[in-house]
Order: sequence, then C-alpha cells, then structure tokens
Amino acid sequence: MISATELDRAETLRFDPLTGIIAGRAPTSRYLVDVGAVFADRQAYTQLVVKNPLVYEVTQVEEHNGDGQVHYGLGIIYPGKVGSEYFMTKGHLHEWRPAAEVYIGLRGRGMMLLEDERTGECRAVALAGNSTVYVPGYTAHRTVNVGDEPLVYWGILSSAAGHDYGTVGERNFRKVIVEKDGRPVVMDRDEFLRELEA
Ligand code: MN
Repeated sequence: MISATELDRAETLRFDPLTGIIAGRAPTSRYLVDVGAVFADRQAYTQLVVKNPLVYEVTQVEEHNGDGQVHYGLGIIYPGKVGSEYFMTKGHLHEWRPAAEVYIGLRGRGMMLLEDERTGECRAVALAGNSTVYVPGYTAHRTVNVGDEPLVYWGILSSAAGHDYGTVGERNFRKVIVEKDGRPVVMDRDEFLRELEA
C-alpha cells in the first residue's frame, strides 16, 4: 500500500521547453569562464572569455533522496563556439559508476559524447528534439549544441548517482565536435590539437 507520506511527494512542475526554465526554480548558470578548461583552442578561449558568454544552464530537481528515488534536471545549452568547437557542458561521470541516465531532447540539435572510462572507447550520438539517449553506467557524458538555436533536454537518473566532474576535468574526452565547412564533425582530440598547432 502507498503511504500518505509517499503520496505527499507527488508534484507537478511546469517548464518551458523553449527557454529551459522550470517555473519557480533558479537555474545554475555556467559562463565560459566556468567551463573554459575543457575547450581545446586556448587562443580562441582567451579571446572569447573577455566577453564571458553564458554557455549553459541546468535546473536540478534533487529533493527526493533515498532508495528508489530519482533526480532529474532540465538543461539548456546556448548556440555558440570557442574557435570551431561547439558550446558544450563540462561533462561528468556518476560517483556511483553503474548508474545510468536517460536524456530526453526537447528542442534544438545536439550531440552527446559518451566515453566508457574502463575501455576509453568514445562515441558521439545525436540528441535533438523528440529523441532520447540512454547513457549507460561507467560512461562519461557531455552534451554539445551543434545547432544555431538553444538545445533543451531533460536528464533523469537515480538519486544515488552523484556527480564526478574531477575525473573528466583532468582527462577531458578523447573526441571533440567541431564545425568544418558549416557542419559538425567528430574528431580525435589529439588530431584536432595537431591541426591547431599547424
Ligand atoms: Mn549524468
């Protein structure tokens, strides 16, 4: 039987799929200076950070904790690039490594970089409006806006998952997503760094 205390947790939140805002909730805003270390082109970063544009915002709904509970959050990545690398999130692993996550795209045109931390294998998959991405456990994930409008999406995961930004912060992802001839291209980071130096 469902107890009254469990039913008391039922809630409706209203959100705007165009702005990525949940009514009554304040987003966490990530400006370029907050995200900066992850972009490959340091010269382009140094030039753009003077303006310090807003790169992405996330509104987390995390008040349900304990066995069986879930956390969820609404993300919005603004269109833009640092050099030829598209605006993206810092990326993270889950502290509880087996914890998977479901992303649900609402608006825009994006991609996710998924990197298995055990094998180093890195893949890019599409995340756009009317699509979902299943992020398996043990997989570092980063969301990238490859379009010219905001990319808006939900992420839903176990309340026990937790976030580990440090491991990705030290290593970064093996692949980058950059614009070439007006189109997004997935490249090995090392190859892109060699191009930048050439
Ligand atoms: Mn996650």
